Amino acid sequence: MTHPMHEHCSRCRRPAPPQDSKEFMDWEATEDGLPVCPGCLTLLDEQYMDEAVMDLADEATGDEPR
Ligand SMILES: [Zn+2]
Repeated sequence: MTHPMHEHCSRCRRPAPPQDSKEFMDWEATEDGLPVCPGCLTLLDEQYMDEAVMDLADEATGDEPR
């Protein structure tokens, strides 16, 4: 999954760091695909992120019989 990263945080309008910087790793995309800086991330966002990671893990092992 690629980050649909735009130029600022969708909440506080803080400019996004360059994609190759360490700071950029802390930025996330919300369920709506909007970029959010670490300062604006909510618990709900983090929960969504965890679920997205689990979905990816499921797809990675998707060829196992159920
Ligand atoms: Zn922000």
